Amino acid sequence: GRSYTNQAEEPIHKLLGGLLSPNFDEQSCQSRYQSSAYRKPSPHKPSSYLVSRLRNYEELHKRCGPKSPLYQKSIHQLKSGHSMGLMECNYLVWSPFNGLGNRMMTIASAFLYALLTNRVLLLHITDDMVDLFCEPFPDSTWVLPSDFPIKDLEELNLGSEQTYGNYLKNKKIKTDVKVMAESLPPYVYLHLEHDYQHLDRLFFCDNDQQVLAKVNWLLIKSDVYFVPGLFFLSQFEDELKWMFPERETVFHHMSRYLFHPTNSVWGMITRYYISYMAKADEKMGIQIRTFSWMPISIENFTNQILACSWQENLLPSINQNMTSQAGTNGGRTKAVLITSLNSEYSEKMKSMYYEHTTSTGEIISFSQPSHEETQHTEKQTHNQKALAEMFLLSYCDVLVTSGWSTFGYVAQGIASLKPWILLSPKDQKAPDPPCRRAMSMEPCFHTPPSYDCKANKNVDFGAILRHVKHCEDVGHGIKLY
Ligand code: GDP
Repeated sequence: GRSYTNQAEEPIHKLLGGLLSPNFDEQSCQSRYQSSAYRKPSPHKPSSYLVSRLRNYEELHKRCGPKSPLYQKSIHQLKSGHSMGLMECNYLVWSPFNGLGNRMMTIASAFLYALLTNRVLLLHITDDMVDLFCEPFPDSTWVLPSDFPIKDLEELNLGSEQTYGNYLKNKKIKTDVKVMAESLPPYVYLHLEHDYQHLDRLFFCDNDQQVLAKVNWLLIKSDVYFVPGLFFLSQFEDELKWMFPERETVFHHMSRYLFHPTNSVWGMITRYYISYMAKADEKMGIQIRTFSWMPISIENFTNQILACSWQENLLPSINQNMTSQAGTNGGRTKAVLITSLNSEYSEKMKSMYYEHTTSTGEIISFSQPSHEETQHTEKQTHNQKALAEMFLLSYCDVLVTSGWSTFGYVAQGIASLKPWILLSPKDQKAPDPPCRRAMSMEPCFHTPPSYDCKANKNVDFGAILRHVKHCEDVGHGIKLY
């Protein structure tokens, strides 16, 4: 292993093995430099190829980003009514959809797609997303300017005439003939939300990518981690192999590169961490999330969480005899961070470990930063708390997460942890086994395509491809491993 005590190597460590650009002012975004000190160094170093691709991307973004003359030129092209060949800059415009975890899944996926296709990624930042993330690209911005001529970005949907699928359906775009950029619309909307249909899913076919490559502006809205689908495209195969020799590190590196909480969010994170987590010998995170379409009572879910934690030796069991005086194991402490919209889970567990001794004598503390009761994605302060809690979870040594939840995926990926995943209830009861260890730290792609473009038939990619498997939590989903 490499020693990090050598002073000359220290800056490299701080910049995560070259993943982060050195061209930033430290004070403007403290988390970029301080966050990695809150956990053990990642065992996964970015490949030198990925590092060089990122530096090249940063140059491209600076050259083509908002306020640059080339951006102005591209805005003229956008207004001209058609695409144009030989434009120096091409763009991918992301719009938010669904909760913050979903959004981070899709920003990471969109950025990788932009890297692979040499496009500049711009984000339509709505009011609920202000002051969450620092700028990831030096000397430029990833925020789409407010005078962007297409105003209805958030309204674009499955039925919009500008979706790739509808352009195909209405024969405005043809893929069976050689097409000139000038015959293509000025922009195409990629509808990759979970409800997308066959024609929009052709996004994952090589032929269709060759046509899309000629469209100067692509708009995208999604709520799924579609990276595993990019691995279906043979034109990206080599690049992906060079960028990510370790396949399961895609989200890990992308998220550590892109997502740095702003100083306001970082303040929340550090205040909480120092108060409730820093002094413990061990830190465990439990991310509790339930969905209305898979209901389970608080009591049943609490029992499921405890069953998982005891069975997997993540928490010591309790001695039912209240008066038993076990030793205190030299005062060994474990801090359990609970995140949930609801406060009852942690109250129940806290009482249990307050009233009883533990089998190992360890002292277990439970704390929960917030309990927002219901999801309010439209509220900026609510999203700041969500982001802070994803990061706090990522500083834990072990994680228990809730199946189906992208909130948990973010934490496990940034941390490079394989969580124990709480499986979904059956008939409102906990399943058996209560949880399963994740095979990789990658997020699950919940709605993968099943169409084999070359063979022109439906297949089960999760069963036949070497680099993906069905997810532990979402049976029809796939993940890299
Ligand atoms: P998913 O729906 O579980 O995949 O995760 P998302 O992050 O996309 O959406 C859930 C949203 O609900 C979060 O972004 C938060 O706004 C809120 N939420 C859910 N669980 C928690 C939690 O434990 N803490 C906080 N602060 N917010 C939560």
